Amino acid sequence: MTEDEKRRRIVPQPWMVEPATRAVLGALSAGGVEARFVGGSVRDALLGRPIGDIDIATPASPERVIELLEKTGIKVVPTGLAHGTVTAVVPPRHFEITTLRRDVETYGRRARVAFDADWAADAARRDFTINAIFLAPDGTIDDPVGGLADLQARRVRFVGDPATRIAEDVLRLLRYYRFEARFGTGFGDQRARAACRAAAHLLPTLSGERVAQELVKLLETSDPIAALHMMEEDGVLAVALPEARGLNRLRRLIEIEPETDPLLRLAALINVDGKAAAALAARLRFSNTWRDRIQSLSQPWALDPRGDAQAQRRTLYRLGVERYRDLVLLMAAEGGVSQSRLAELLDLALGWTPPVFPLAGRDVTALGIPAGRRVGRLLSAVHDWWEAGDFRGDRAACLAYLELLICTPA
Ligand code: ATP
Ligand code: MG
Repeated sequence: MTEDEKRRRIVPQPWMVEPATRAVLGALSAGGVEARFVGGSVRDALLGRPIGDIDIATPASPERVIELLEKTGIKVVPTGLAHGTVTAVVPPRHFEITTLRRDVETYGRRARVAFDADWAADAARRDFTINAIFLAPDGTIDDPVGGLADLQARRVRFVGDPATRIAEDVLRLLRYYRFEARFGTGFGDQRARAACRAAAHLLPTLSGERVAQELVKLLETSDPIAALHMMEEDGVLAVALPEARGLNRLRRLIEIEPETDPLLRLAALINVDGKAAAALAARLRFSNTWRDRIQSLSQPWALDPRGDAQAQRRTLYRLGVERYRDLVLLMAAEGGVSQSRLAELLDLALGWTPPVFPLAGRDVTALGIPAGRRVGRLLSAVHDWWEAGDFRGDRAACLAYLELLICTPA
């Protein structure tokens, strides 16, 4: 083997030979069909990072792929048949298998495709060079567009002319910054950024879901700040997320809390009240759970970090541990809570077991109060007393207070 060949071959890695992968590749090769890994798993494996879902490219038609996989009992989901993609599900993995294709015509995000491409043509329709490296099951690398060198230099480079590639599919503009965040040096590629700047006004043609998906993936990277700065400089952030006026707050949040919680990070990045948070959630088609969470973290923040331990427990009781913790972190990122106070409040939240109010309606009716509004009023009066007493009252104490209320004329 020559030096050049050595560089173009890697020792097959565990994910390439684990049973799930073997099952999929075996089913295809039993039909004489060639298959190579491509995209994220190849890129991440070459960098020694953990891999996620596995993308596979093959010259065989999607119908043939389905037939061969089903023959060996592998579950296949036709996730994107029109553009040549089927998903093989072999728990715990998902394999996205795409037929080699070329884009015949593109309109916005949609494309008419032909399945007569060779490996080089298939690489040419992919977004970035680092995503267009093929890896055969024996470890042989085929790198038609120079992705390996870019990967080593941490260059996120469009395959072909950036402006053309973005005009074909505007989503690539957002993908660019996301891949910059994951793999770039922090400065970006001047040609790519110029093309993004020129095409930023097209972002509103993307669906809210796609924008949300990309933003969330960007915020999930370990450090999205440099990419977000580039987006700001390039006029992309103002179009994709006009609410994003808290980059410094997000930077401090990441310093305080490195955990990659995308919604908490989003809450730090935006600076909005509840109404604007709801509008953002509607625009980006958030699920109800996400909408509620982003709204619950909007301004004004329902927490006073200065109160004593009893006041904090009351707030914790009302907000729940997760929301309390999120708000404390956001306030610290804003600069309103010192390091030591933050540690104290987080400790308090972590050690907190939510108390359970010991009475129910039947305790009131058992004392002869007929079912009706008065039951609710009495219960809530006892509840307020219990809360004001730092949740110390047990069932007997609460019952005694209830009896006192019933005996005391209103
Ligand atoms: P991730 O780790 O985020 O999954 P990925 O590179 O695998 O990264 P996917 O969105 O899973 O990204 O796409 C798989 C591959 O398909 C990419 O690596 C790229 O080659 C190609 N691809 C995906 N989206 C586009 C697009 N909009 N335009 C061109 N090629 C694309
Ligand atoms: Mg992927």
